[in-house]
Amino acid sequence: MSTQTIEVIGIVGAGTMGNGIAQACAVKGLKVVMVDISEAAVAKGIATVSGSLDRLVKKEKITADDKAAALALIQGSTSYDDLKSADLIIEAATENEALKVKILQQLDGLMAEHAILATNTSSISITKLAAVTKRADRFIGMHFFNPVPMMALVEIIRGLQTSDATHDAVKAMAERLGKSPITVKNAPGFVVNRILVPMINEAFFVLAEGLSTPEDIDAGMKLGCNHPIGPLALADMVGLDVCLAVMNVYFEEFADSKYRPCPLLKEMVAAGFLGRKTGKGVYTY
Ligand code: NAD
Repeated sequence: MSTQTIEVIGIVGAGTMGNGIAQACAVKGLKVVMVDISEAAVAKGIATVSGSLDRLVKKEKITADDKAAALALIQGSTSYDDLKSADLIIEAATENEALKVKILQQLDGLMAEHAILATNTSSISITKLAAVTKRADRFIGMHFFNPVPMMALVEIIRGLQTSDATHDAVKAMAERLGKSPITVKNAPGFVVNRILVPMINEAFFVLAEGLSTPEDIDAGMKLGCNHPIGPLALADMVGLDVCLAVMNVYFEEFADSKYRPCPLLKEMVAAGFLGRKTGKGVYTY
């Protein structure tokens, strides 16, 4: 399908990413059906969108009428049947491969023939996920960044089977959301995390070698590279366990020693020093 018009967006998962994507679509006037497993999860997702829109009204970025119009476009549901009318479904459920395979096969079976299936996975192969569906040519990665309403980037990841028409339609859709998409071939970490997480890992090596203090390492990267936050402070925000898990994926998938996780990072995770979420990581909170 070359002149695909996408009017109804289905979203699976009403969590951090799902409700952010729903908001981004609804403020641009697109009809959204957002599905989660429980009424409570759906209600929480919609409440999060409402709160986020309230803040935009307060800052006078949108009017109260704009907020009401956007919210009215989002239908919450616990039934996958409500996704049948979607032209594009974006799967943003929990990051678990077996779960995603099950969800994607279920969606594949009920979606309209022309509809495109996208996944927001951060770490699972798009080519592999496409292959479990009967619409591998109409399957693609749409990797949004958190918080979705604020972040301009969407990585559009082509599996080996993704058609040009699917890519072009999804790229146009991302632009319609006011985003700046980049096109990426499928590989672990895609582009941004592939560069970002090894940089964080290298900061731990620098720290472990005693080359500098955490404060000076972070100041160096902020002042020398114009990064808004230093790599060690960023690791504390992301979670040291998440950084380690990502490095382990690269280490195994590429079978290349340049991705070996820093022993200090492993030690800190073993100690439970995971960053902000545990009150202690590189820094104490
Ligand atoms: P989250 O835990 O906030 O939300 C996941 C939601 O999926 C939950 O509400 C859960 O109830 C729901 N869910 C689980 N099983 C389901 C099912 N069978 N059907 C429908 N809904 C189901 O997670 P998140 O942070 O929003 O992450 C979602 C996806 O986005 C993951 O694949 C993650 O890797 C990816 N991602 C996350 C971020 C981030 O910074 N959080 C950034 C980019 C991509």
